[in-house]
Amino acid sequence: METVEIRAEPLEALAELLEPDRAATFLSAAAQAREALAGRVVWNINSTASGGGVAEMLQTLLAYARGAEVDTRWLVLEGDAQFFEITKALHNALHGSLVGRTGFDGTDRAHYERIMQANLAQLQGTIRAGDVVLLHDPQTAGLAAGLTELGARVVWRCHIGRDEGNDVTDLAWAFLREHILAADAFVFSRASYIPDWVPADRAVVIQPSIDPFSTKNAAIAAAEVSRILLEVGLVHNGDPHEAVEFDRRAGSRGVLRRHADLVSNGPPPISAPLVVQVSRWDRLKDMPGVLAGFAEHVAPSVPDAHLVLAGPDVSGVTDDPEGAEVYAECRQLWRALPDDVRDRCHLASLPMDDVDENALIVNALQRHAAVVVQKSLVEGFGLTLTEAMWKARPVVASAVGGLQDQLTDGDEGFLLADARDIVTFGKLVRRLLDEPELGDTMGRRGQVRVRRDFLGDRHLVQWVRLLRSLDA
Ligand code: UDP
Repeated sequence: METVEIRAEPLEALAELLEPDRAATFLSAAAQAREALAGRVVWNINSTASGGGVAEMLQTLLAYARGAEVDTRWLVLEGDAQFFEITKALHNALHGSLVGRTGFDGTDRAHYERIMQANLAQLQGTIRAGDVVLLHDPQTAGLAAGLTELGARVVWRCHIGRDEGNDVTDLAWAFLREHILAADAFVFSRASYIPDWVPADRAVVIQPSIDPFSTKNAAIAAAEVSRILLEVGLVHNGDPHEAVEFDRRAGSRGVLRRHADLVSNGPPPISAPLVVQVSRWDRLKDMPGVLAGFAEHVAPSVPDAHLVLAGPDVSGVTDDPEGAEVYAECRQLWRALPDDVRDRCHLASLPMDDVDENALIVNALQRHAAVVVQKSLVEGFGLTLTEAMWKARPVVASAVGGLQDQLTDGDEGFLLADARDIVTFGKLVRRLLDEPELGDTMGRRGQVRVRRDFLGDRHLVQWVRLLRSLDA
């Protein structure tokens, strides 16, 4: 298993952002954690060190745990292509859809369990009685029984979910249920995601959070935002084709080592209002739907607006085998757009080999956007939305899953009642483009909302309470 390095982030800067009472609660929870967990290790096991919300959150939250002097460590599970195909299918099934499968059979189970045994074998002698292990998502659920046998306290943290189960979610839960029930406690992002067979007294809801000081979210001056986007080739400030050449040269000697790989007829002008969705190339994020909605219902009536769909460079993602397929689908749709609209739509693959560089580019792109959208068909909790709101951007998001808890329709942006309704999607985006003052007001409210509900102190305090309850 790969060990991911965790830095220690002092708690003081975050505490200084908070009201005094709230800061005191945060610092006292950190002291309680330090005391309760002294001499023990808090392990986190997930399936990837970068790309996607889980890795994003672990990077920042675990740094604060280290800052609180809790001995926390992060391991990435080892699997093969067949394993990740099965776990991606489980992920999709928990969201209610079976893509290219009829279900899960004995071969799938046997392979999943074989990979679990191989990973467990590596943990023997490393994880000790009394340690706490947080297992993230379906990929790691099968480790729970073996770890409790080692004497560890095990929490299964599920980052995904769907409000109402269906036959397909039942198939995934049937696969995972016995594995999951071996854990001591269970954490979900929304109450409606908790299956009825999970003992209610051992399940808690903890919503995700973002870190205002991470490379993804830290303040960047407007001039620096422009410099980053120009340098990485995501916008141009002159002739688009010359600009790409200019930017390539700048990139080779500049701060940013890699270029965003654009499927585009040349990047958008820096002055153009941008509609942006940042997502993994996952079917449930509906990048093709955003493209269609923008092309048919925004571009014709807002002639200077451009769309940027940005996601990770698919060649590097190992636990997400569908990425390349979805990206190819988007490329095909892009090619079929009418010429004048195609010029204003851009698919950006962001370099993933340097997590900080990737985060800086996403940060700049979200800050530069006129409107940030998250048109997911299903969403456990969309960090991208909270990241955009923290940057005071107005948002349009589907009224599905956790996204509904992240903003109030009409306050910080708009919720799209039917995630597949591209006509209304276009109307809401147009409204924010046409009324920039409304966008600014909503954006400012978004930042207030994130400060209130979605910062790491609230998240960490909830974890400390849960971990202490395991010893009670
Ligand atoms: N992200 C990124 N680079 C990309 C695409 C996504 O850094 O090219 C980040 C994004 O900023 C967010 C996370 O990946 O922090 C995605 O989390 P979210 O909860 O929105 O969705 P998930 O991928 O977990 O389904």
